[in-house]
Amino acid sequence: VKIDIHLGAKESPKNELVIISAFSKEVADKNKKAPAKMELVNTHWPKEYKEAFAKLKSHTRFHGKKGEHYKFPLTSGAVVLALGLGDKAKLEYEHLRKEAAKVFKAVKDHYDHPAILFDSFIIKNKAEESLEALLEGLYLVDYKFELYLSKKSESTFKGFQLISDKAKSLQKKWDDIHSKVLHTCESINFARNLVNEPPNVLHSEEMAKRIAEDAKKLKGVKVTVLTKKDIEKEKMGMFLAVNRGSAYEPRLVHLSYTPAKATSKTKHVALVGKGLTFDTGGYSLKPGASMINMKFDMAGAATLYAAFRSSVLNHAPVKISCYLGITDNAINSLATFPDSIVTARNGKTVEILNTDAEGRLVLGDVMDYACDDKPDVMIDAATLTGAVLVALGTEVCGLMGNDQKLCDELLKSAKAKDEYLWQLPVIQEYRDSMKGSISDLKNISNAGDRNAGTAKAAAFLESFVKNEVKWAHFDIAGVGDSQSHLPYCPSKGASGLMVRSIHHYLMNAK
Ligand SMILES: [Zn+2]
Repeated sequence: VKIDIHLGAKESPKNELVIISAFSKEVADKNKKAPAKMELVNTHWPKEYKEAFAKLKSHTRFHGKKGEHYKFPLTSGAVVLALGLGDKAKLEYEHLRKEAAKVFKAVKDHYDHPAILFDSFIIKNKAEESLEALLEGLYLVDYKFELYLSKKSESTFKGFQLISDKAKSLQKKWDDIHSKVLHTCESINFARNLVNEPPNVLHSEEMAKRIAEDAKKLKGVKVTVLTKKDIEKEKMGMFLAVNRGSAYEPRLVHLSYTPAKATSKTKHVALVGKGLTFDTGGYSLKPGASMINMKFDMAGAATLYAAFRSSVLNHAPVKISCYLGITDNAINSLATFPDSIVTARNGKTVEILNTDAEGRLVLGDVMDYACDDKPDVMIDAATLTGAVLVALGTEVCGLMGNDQKLCDELLKSAKAKDEYLWQLPVIQEYRDSMKGSISDLKNISNAGDRNAGTAKAAAFLESFVKNEVKWAHFDIAGVGDSQSHLPYCPSKGASGLMVRSIHHYLMNAK
């Protein structure tokens, strides 16, 4: 979708459709006999709109309640679409995102180039934040994955004109906000495409190639792709154990970005992503129904690449290194048996009791590798456990870590972007449960243990943090996919959630 912003607008737009907000307020019955009623608030409408609206017999039915829409013509021939948003005082930015996405769906097949009277959508008296939220909703909803459909959807929709009475002198500032949002949403859509690609197309070698090709176009980014030989040289015994049954080589994509004004004091953040292009479970094979959609097991790597990409394009003030561990988890005669004991890059021995708990094996080695670069902070993201869905549902992302200040900052960023993130504890008992009897560690606590699987996986990962790096872990297994409750996410397929939160953290980290 193409969006232009016009500031300093003096007259009503000439577009065929003009979108404006309407609110409602509760009015108590004077005699206190009847219950309170909701009344329309449209004092902010242009005179012409109010008059045209009042002439229509059905206008008394529209109260500006949340979810209510009302359409009416002007004498000029243009049509006004009034969007009911409910009580203005109760509105949050997330409502703007959702409403923007719903409007896009409602108008795109019927109009070519509607105008949005943006000032009517400013909430909390914060024009810039409202603009950002509205644009996010419009760009995030405009996503389709039709690569494999022989008949693609057609559209004549040209985009929106955002009209505001605010001073023309703000144009540059608003255009900057616009381009930042666009960078983030385009990065999210790049990640969604990767996740939605089928595993026979997007195997490990292909995924690494696509990311490296894209990253090479980013200014100030160094791109390195480690091949199987390199990973063997690094002695990443856990990562290689996962890859043993695969027809494809593993890849470790290593990207580094240094901001133009970096000094020796510039903070360095490492991002470590799980990129399992398909997870059969290995010899601990998943049952058929649970194996469907396991192409999405690389969503952690896609999410972090999108956060990295967007932060580079938006000139984040911190140094960012991105490490993506990519392979599939398949079976052939070489595939790793359950009961195998392997040696991790950091020298610890690990008994692999369940080959389906493979993400932590890949991540552990890559995290150890990342810590060699001595980042101040390391954030990993992974579709790590099914247990996170039991604990938090599909709507909430799990957060764990070894530093409360870091976790608090990440929770704050998630709140700022209206994404659900909830911290789970990592306690000594969980760490103890991951200790082996004939090896230093085991990759699951006990066969059949269904308790605290998400946090115990985090306790395992924590063993691969070194050099006093502050670390946080996002378990996105629930939120990565099919967020049908959010109008700006596709109801089926990759969501692209948590990119905005992590990007917000990177843009504000000091
Ligand atoms: Zn698995």
